[in-house]
Amino acid sequence: MIPSNTILTDDFGRKHNYLRISLLEKCNLRCTYCMPADGIELSPKASLMTAEEIFSIAQTFVENGVDKIRLTGGEPLLRKDFPEIISKLASLEVSISITTNGILIDRHIDVLKQFNVNKINLSLDTLVASKFHTITLRNQFDKVIDNLHLLLNNDFQVKVNVVLMKGFNENEIIDFIKLTQFLPISIRFIEFMPFAGNEWDRSKMVSQNEILSQVEASFSAEDILKLEDEKNFTARAYKIKDFQGDFGIISSITNPFCDGCNRIRLTANGKIKNCLFSNSETDLLTPFRNGESITNLISESIKNKKKVRAGMVTIEEMDDPNLHFDNRSMIAIGG
Ligand code: SF4
Repeated sequence: MIPSNTILTDDFGRKHNYLRISLLEKCNLRCTYCMPADGIELSPKASLMTAEEIFSIAQTFVENGVDKIRLTGGEPLLRKDFPEIISKLASLEVSISITTNGILIDRHIDVLKQFNVNKINLSLDTLVASKFHTITLRNQFDKVIDNLHLLLNNDFQVKVNVVLMKGFNENEIIDFIKLTQFLPISIRFIEFMPFAGNEWDRSKMVSQNEILSQVEASFSAEDILKLEDEKNFTARAYKIKDFQGDFGIISSITNPFCDGCNRIRLTANGKIKNCLFSNSETDLLTPFRNGESITNLISESIKNKKKVRAGMVTIEEMDDPNLHFDNRSMIAIGG
């Protein structure tokens, strides 16, 4: 039997204490970098984890060292049983957070407050209403902005995730940073990443260096403060002097941060992925439903984790679409 304190430790000594659970594959937006143009084939409802199964599988991870759970999707707040899922998970010794597009926040804010889910990552790629429609194919910009303010007025900690794409929103980097002058939010600029069906190519990506060049051209050097990065960081953090909020750069392509990776993902149909870019998955739900132990399967998946980006070490490998074809689209991973 594997000692429980090593089940979530990989061959590179990385301890995986952070579980990201996708609650469903559906979304109420159609962001082009996330959802393939033809949609995706949804898993049959019977193969999605129920609230009880989510709780029990999460409990196994918590017993083995997970102390942080993030709920993702698709859009997690679309799950009709979201309050039940949160109430069950809140009985575990974990901090719980969610990543959401923000549209349904007002409907769920009471339950989020009730169960102390006060860290929210909100996806918002533009500050221009017409561009919001272009990227999401839906007219929900005002709703998202209203809900961002609702969260701040209720003392939630909000990180705003911005996927940067050339020709779309790279000219809004400074506008986003200026938002942090008066709002206590963290803006996180994310390099556009390749997933099945999102037509990634390197020329569409805005790199960490390009983001920093814009920042350096707009603010004086002494006003750009490098903050200490969080443990197991994904975003390299900065702040403009005297601004209330801060900003960070998630440079998965040009400057990966896999050395400190503590993340493992559970898909809505109960499979674990040991890396965002991994093509291989381990089914936990079927053995769980058969009454079998899943700890050995979890351990095996963690042991198979590669040092960097599922084995794609160079940017040339990231450029190769054949290496991403078998991965899920982002909507089915949960970011
Ligand atoms: S690319 Fe994979 S290994 Fe690297 S930080 Fe992301 S999930 Fe972790």
